[in-house]
Amino acid sequence: MVNNSRADWFHLDVMDGVFVPNITFGFQIINVINQYAQKPLDVHLMIVQPERYLEQFKKAGADILSIHYEASTHLHRSIYAIKDLGMQAGVVLNPHTHVSVLEDIISDLDLVLLMSVNPGFGGQKFIDNTYHKITQLKELILRKNAHALIEIDGGVTLDNAPKLVNAGADVLVAGNTIFSSDDPVKTIELLKESSPLYSA
Ligand code: ZN
Repeated sequence: MVNNSRADWFHLDVMDGVFVPNITFGFQIINVINQYAQKPLDVHLMIVQPERYLEQFKKAGADILSIHYEASTHLHRSIYAIKDLGMQAGVVLNPHTHVSVLEDIISDLDLVLLMSVNPGFGGQKFIDNTYHKITQLKELILRKNAHALIEIDGGVTLDNAPKLVNAGADVLVAGNTIFSSDDPVKTIELLKESSPLYSA
């Protein structure tokens, strides 16, 4: 269904039960998804010491690999390790982490993922401060002449999607909104039309 929809990427949430309370899946499941997926795999690691597993995620099929700022002591080294493996590299910020921590790394990133809920579970309520963070991040990217995409993850709905895009979001992650809807393909279609050009 996702292959035949207008979705651009598969977003895969890897949780280890330590960095976040929940456990999801690891390399084997990603490897199987990779055999069926006809779109890039955007892998979001919610795990401690992500630098230990970068090569295994590449082998499993990750095209874009994002690691948490809060879980990375040597973020710059890890970002370049991801790039050297041939993947696009992203950094994720939890809701409490200020955008300014990216000041010295933003130019090296392909993507910044802003958590708009606390990571660990699906179906949570969107945190409104996210709009403010998107504005700050957009300003930082423009000021540094960086190319990172702004991705929003958590509580994305058909209602807030146009506002997120207007604020500067490039990529919206939606799980519950799509998979709990009666017509997931149609819901993806509606999300794709959340651009300011289409929102009346
Ligand atoms: Zn995610």
